[in-house]
Order: sequence, then structure tokens, then C-alpha cells
Amino acid sequence: MSGKSRAEQRFERHLRDHLLVEYRQLMDEDQESEETLEAHALLTDAVNARATDLHLDPFPDQYRVRLRIDGMMVDAMEVSYDQGRRLVNQFKAMATLDPIPSVRCNEGSFVYSLDETDLDLRVTAIPCVSGDKLAIRVLSPPEAVQDIQELGIPSEGVEWIRRWMDATGGMFLVAGPTGSGKTTTLYALLHELKLSDSHVITLEDPVEYEIPGINQIQVDPMHDLTFANGTQAMLRLDPDYVLIGEIRDVPSAQAGISVATSGRSLMGTLHSRDAVGTITALRNLGLDDYEIAANLGLVAAQRLVRKLCPECRTKGKPDNIEKQWLRQCGREVPDETWIPVGCPACNNLGFRGRIGVFEVWQLTEDDYARILRHEDELSLRHSLIERGQPLMLDDGLAKVEEGFTTLRELLRTGVLLSHHSPSELDTQEK
Ligand SMILES: [Zn+2]
Repeated sequence: MSGKSRAEQRFERHLRDHLLVEYRQLMDEDQESEETLEAHALLTDAVNARATDLHLDPFPDQYRVRLRIDGMMVDAMEVSYDQGRRLVNQFKAMATLDPIPSVRCNEGSFVYSLDETDLDLRVTAIPCVSGDKLAIRVLSPPEAVQDIQELGIPSEGVEWIRRWMDATGGMFLVAGPTGSGKTTTLYALLHELKLSDSHVITLEDPVEYEIPGINQIQVDPMHDLTFANGTQAMLRLDPDYVLIGEIRDVPSAQAGISVATSGRSLMGTLHSRDAVGTITALRNLGLDDYEIAANLGLVAAQRLVRKLCPECRTKGKPDNIEKQWLRQCGREVPDETWIPVGCPACNNLGFRGRIGVFEVWQLTEDDYARILRHEDELSLRHSLIERGQPLMLDDGLAKVEEGFTTLRELLRTGVLLSHHSPSELDTQEK
């Protein structure tokens, strides 16, 4: 995305000044340690800043330290090439990776204890022309969402999901691109199901988080545990609910359909742009119209947007790009909207945490008839709009009006059906 907002620039300045405290102190003391002291300090800083990823990017004369916070990449600081290489070597040592730069990508992991919490860290070293690039992912357990209402699903959608959970049979798919919070939504559902008397089994590749009280099976083709035979074995255990992590290829789609046609309730995630996009995705995975119409009951499509910090958000005028975008979507442009400011409570970012923006589609007889007639997603979407079904954009705009997030966040995360990307809007503006 081109150009950073004022709030983002302010945040980066703040990061430079205040956030990498431990690492900076160490540098000021001018200690060159062969140990892993510097890497520890940087990691502590990153975790304190709520970063999920830490990147060390090599340039010909320096290294750049970047953090991903609430899904956004921010440049945290530049260090000298030698300092950067030392950090890379220290992290490699912690992850027991070969210190000698190789021509291939190397992956390793280690556990880092901070304030009595064990963090699982995955390290990837990628050889670049200027040196090794290091990407470190902090895998912390997901915020335990115990109640699907906390995710930000509109109340009607929550009602439909609860009704689906009470009924037996049918497919419920959570749709969205990578990093849109699909897994968190499904795991919240599992938490609710765990409290019921039902028998729940998951077949995942990989099992992302363990939930006590749920039987989770890891797909392992090396040991002949595939989606196909795993499903057959699972069905013999007579589950009420089955979760298939991600439906992403023909075997997992077939496994999903065989569960649903056996009268069990099936949950899964699917990569698609919006709710009706799942029909195209399922067709592309080899399911025919009849299989889809006979089994698909409910779809929730989602995106994650950053949540405005309630301590410092304020009202201001929407900017030109936001106005133009709203007009393109055929929506009214408000005189005022919520905008980020930045305060100590949010590390000067103006945002803190994220919330989902949803559209929940409960399929009707009319939808099934359209699917059986092989109508495409455009025609399905039109029929949803005609019957007044709220779309993702409606939920997003409601969340903007309530001050949960900003117009720019909706635009950035693609909560729109516009055919223009934000950068295209940028150029048009100039
Ligand atoms: Zn704030």
C-alpha cells in the first residue's frame, strides 16, 4: 500500500524513541556480546509492543528491523550491518540453525520465556543478495474467545450460527483470505460446542491450537493418515460435529462432503473473497451444484480490521480517498467520522487490537434453486442485495459509525466490492 497515514508515521517515530528500549540500552552500553543478549533484548521489546512478527532485513549498508503489530508492518529501527548480522547469528543460534549463510531457506524454532509465558517462535532464514534475511513469528495461543458474540458478528448472524449448532447436519463455512481471523472464529465455535454434550472431532492440517475436551486429529500423509481415510475412520466414531481445518483441495472438499452427506454437522474454512464467493470456490474444488445445494447451510465471510483506541479516538472529516471510495460503493459520505490519534495506551498507534467485520449468509430455498441452475456468484450477490441481506460493507460501516474502526481500515482490508484497489484510488486522486 502506498503512503503511510500520519498516525502510522507518528507511531514509527514513537517506536524509534520509546519502544525498543531494552535493545537500545544495550547498544548504548556498547556491549558487543557473542552471547544472545541482543537478540533477547530485541525480542522482549517486540513482544512488549504486541508484535506477531519480527523481521531483520538486510540492505547493502545496514539492517532494518521491522515489526508486525495488529497485522500492520512497521519499520522499527535501522541498525548497522554488523549489528544486524550479529542479531541474525544470535537468533540462528537460539533456533539451532546453521550459522553459515546457505543458498536455501532454513527453518527452525525455539521457546522463549517472558514474564512466565512460554512463547513459541518460528524462525525462517532466507538468503538475499545483501545477506541473510530473518523472519521470526511469535506463535502465542489465540486470545481465548469463549463466546462467538465477542468476535463482532452482528446479532442476526450470531442467531443463525446458534441455530445451525442446534440443528443436525449441513455445512457451515467460514470464508475469507489468509489472516482474516477464520481460524479464531472456528475455535470460538469449538469452545461453545465443548460446553454442550455433543461429540466433536476435528481433522486438521495442521492442528493449530489444542482445545482440551475436543478430539483433534492431525492429518499426516507420511503415515497414511489422509483427509480421505481419516474421514472414514472419524465417521466410525460417530461424531455429532466435525471440523475440517481448511478446505483447500479436492481431497479435503471430498472429505467435507462425505461428512455432511452422512448427516453430521461440518465446519471448515475456505479461501474466498466474500460469502457468495464460496460457491465458486467449491465448484472449483470439484463439487457439483447438487452436492453444494444439498449440504451448504451457512456461510460467514470475514475480515479483520484494527480497533480504534477508545482512549484517544476523535472525530474528524473523511479524507478524499475515503469520500471517493464511499461514492464508488454507492454510499453516503458522512460529514464526520472517527479517526485515530495516538496516546500512551495504544503505543501512539491510535489502534489497539482487532475486530472482525462479517457477512453471514443463511442459504434459502431461492439460493438453492439458483445454485442448481448454475447461476454465478454475481447473480447470487444481486439476489442477496435485492432481499436486503446485510453485506460485509454494511457491517463495516456500522462499526465505523459506532467508532470501533475507521473508513480507511475497511478500505485497506478489502471490506468492499469495489473493483479499485486503494493504490489505484491514490493515483486517481493526484
Ligand atoms: Zn490511544
